[in-house]
Amino acid sequence: MLTVMLSMGNAIAETRPAISRDEAIEKKVAEQVKKMTLEEKIGQMIQVEINLVSYSDPEYTVPELMKKNKPQLEAIVHKFSLENKTDVNMLVDANGQADKTAFYPFYNLSQQIADLQPFRLDKNVLKDAFGKYKIASIQNMLGGLHANDVKTWQQATMEIQEAAQKYLGIPCMYGLDQVHGTTYTLGGTIFPQPIGMVATFNPQLAKRMGEISAYETRACGVPWVFVPDLDLGRHPAWSRQYEGMGEDPLTGAVMGEAYMRGLQGDDPNHIDAYHVGTTLKHYVGYGVTGNGIDRNPGQVTDMDLREKHFAPFLKAIRSGALSVMTNSSILNGMNGVANKRLLTGWLKQELNWDGMIVTDWADIENLRKRDHIVSTQKEGIILAINAGVDMMMVPSEWGYGAILKEAVEEGSVSMERIDDAVSRVLRMKHRVGLFERPFVNPALYPEFGSEEHIATAKKMAIESEVLLKNEDNILPLQRGKKILVCGPNANTMRGLNGGWTYTWQGTNTEAFTTNYHTILKAMQNKFGTGNIIYEPGVEYAPYGDCEREKTPEIEKAVKAAAHADYILACVGENSYAETSGNIMNLHLSENQTELVKQLAATGKPVILILNQGRCRLIYDIEPLCKAVVDVMLPGNYGGDALAELLSGDENFSGRLPMTYPSLPQTFTTYDYKVCEMRETMAGIYNYEAKTNAQWWFGDGLSYTTFAYTNMKVSKPTFTANDAIEVSIDVANTGKVKGKEVVMLYSCDLYASLIPDNRRLRAFEKVELQPGETKTVKLTIKGSDLAFVGGDGHWILEKGDFRLTIGNQETMITAAETKYWDTPNIED
Ligand code: BGC
Repeated sequence: MLTVMLSMGNAIAETRPAISRDEAIEKKVAEQVKKMTLEEKIGQMIQVEINLVSYSDPEYTVPELMKKNKPQLEAIVHKFSLENKTDVNMLVDANGQADKTAFYPFYNLSQQIADLQPFRLDKNVLKDAFGKYKIASIQNMLGGLHANDVKTWQQATMEIQEAAQKYLGIPCMYGLDQVHGTTYTLGGTIFPQPIGMVATFNPQLAKRMGEISAYETRACGVPWVFVPDLDLGRHPAWSRQYEGMGEDPLTGAVMGEAYMRGLQGDDPNHIDAYHVGTTLKHYVGYGVTGNGIDRNPGQVTDMDLREKHFAPFLKAIRSGALSVMTNSSILNGMNGVANKRLLTGWLKQELNWDGMIVTDWADIENLRKRDHIVSTQKEGIILAINAGVDMMMVPSEWGYGAILKEAVEEGSVSMERIDDAVSRVLRMKHRVGLFERPFVNPALYPEFGSEEHIATAKKMAIESEVLLKNEDNILPLQRGKKILVCGPNANTMRGLNGGWTYTWQGTNTEAFTTNYHTILKAMQNKFGTGNIIYEPGVEYAPYGDCEREKTPEIEKAVKAAAHADYILACVGENSYAETSGNIMNLHLSENQTELVKQLAATGKPVILILNQGRCRLIYDIEPLCKAVVDVMLPGNYGGDALAELLSGDENFSGRLPMTYPSLPQTFTTYDYKVCEMRETMAGIYNYEAKTNAQWWFGDGLSYTTFAYTNMKVSKPTFTANDAIEVSIDVANTGKVKGKEVVMLYSCDLYASLIPDNRRLRAFEKVELQPGETKTVKLTIKGSDLAFVGGDGHWILEKGDFRLTIGNQETMITAAETKYWDTPNIED
């Protein structure tokens, strides 16, 4: 690549634009900006939420409901027959008055009432949205708790577009969190959550997921998605582990880019009617939460930020990603939305990237209300826009435009910054084709929810579920035997899907998934209803959060076990999203732990199925189980996939994309520093240092066995620019066909900063018939073995590196030290 470096203060920019300039688009944008008034420009920097422009009965809004007392609320619940969905006790305090802190239960009630009516937009508000406030974008699901069909989506997005044309003349860019497929549309294809996508270690499949998701999103009239989530989950308790890329930078970069390319296609300047603009989020380091609590402050060194957390973003930006969403958390004392160094410096200047930065939900307000970084809303807006934000996800008020205008008029935000921001927004609208094709053409999408789309989602579910233990080859299950299926995750589509499914929290999933199969139903289909005994023992409570359970009935399950040959204990978590998923204790719930203990005491073999968005601690029950499968959140076809795998009709090939912790207090990642694991020193004192994990990143078993031989390296002595080819023979030494993820790790033996224990440098998934051997070639560059040194610069240090694949290893040597002046290593 020809890269000429330009000095920009301390920052150095690659002059080659991350996305190549399209002169025709640039000309149109420049002409448009020239003609726009300040109000119009500012309007294009604002995004609101759909609720702000949709019709709702004024009597049942959250503020109105919050004025009621217990009898009045009971009467409302009765009037709309919502007794089975709403627990009035969750809405009131001890005095029977509305509990003002219970926003979410009130929101639920308000939405449940609204959802009894068909979704409709408020035409008057829509007129103001574009005519008066001149907004650029709307986001979120239609309605709050009721997923709508594709026709309703098409009508709504067309109506919005008509209003935008009529009152503003600039198309509206609708954005949606399509977290694991067609998240908010009935009949759309739902895939495993991203953590499962990553667990497949199959980039082709990730790309296809992106393509299908983009196709079905466009079918709804939506040109822009808030994915992929490229956060590295480095704390196991974090509630957003399942939305992100797991713990490893390389896996995140490779899988994230493949998914992004599937969504966006190959030409970022001309996105067709089957692809969508993407948003990389949450830029950057959102997964670094000090204590595992979502949006609690995190600390990360510049070295780790650049070398690890930035890596997936860098790759996707260089591959043409059109927009980036800010990190709504606090890193090193600074809210992501105000971090000029990272937004303008690292992203826009250093990468010469002309895409658009959108805030996360109410980020600017958080600067004041939550983080106390500013004392007024205006200061927050000024700080964020000057840091490099182009579009503000406001999302639920109209006043931001007027405040920003004031800030411009008084000189706190320059016209140059406004013109730059609005150009980025308009450029993106051109790139996604909105000026040419503002309206969806429903005839273009006959494959919405097609058999092929479903088959791909099921294939991904099969490749995502990870076999972690299989003592005495207890799996596959023998046919004709009796299986007790139990645990709170056995008969729930909500559990299989997790949050961001039909609704934000995924709480109403059962209502929309009657056509899909829970684990129980899938097991009945596969093994015969007569062979399956169902007795849950523990069940989740129907309302609310991810931890609430009903009074357990463990003895019933134990009794039922007497008639079973196997026990399938399906445990884990109920659905949650974001901060609502915060927990104080990572251990699996007490009831569920007790269930497994008592079942194991029967002497019948327990197969533990983990269905969860993060790794709940099971160190005390794992030894009691003969087999363990982590299905994570495999989506609508996850139950069917599991039944196929347990029967042996399909083989496991998923690998853990994160380290599964064992004991609390010593959480770690696979790339811990070498000094964290040391042998006990001789002598009377115990100087040992130990990390521990239940299973490590990359672990995962198969019904067959693989043997590695003949590891060879093309360049045992190398320099930074050399391509190093590592080849190895992989043989299927078992009796059934299987897929193996061949993983190449490196370890820098000595370095000027304590080296990581291991780092994944390349991987490839291969399929092998029994007895078959394939030679797999993995190529890395010498510079892939560089790290970010203490002064923030990349460096490849002269010396030895150990390369390992499976049980094979070989040494290679960097012949010379190379130091980079540039912030990033060239592509
Ligand atoms: C989440 C984002 C999401 C946004 C828009 C926020 O609460 O953090 O991931 O894209 O909402 O719905």
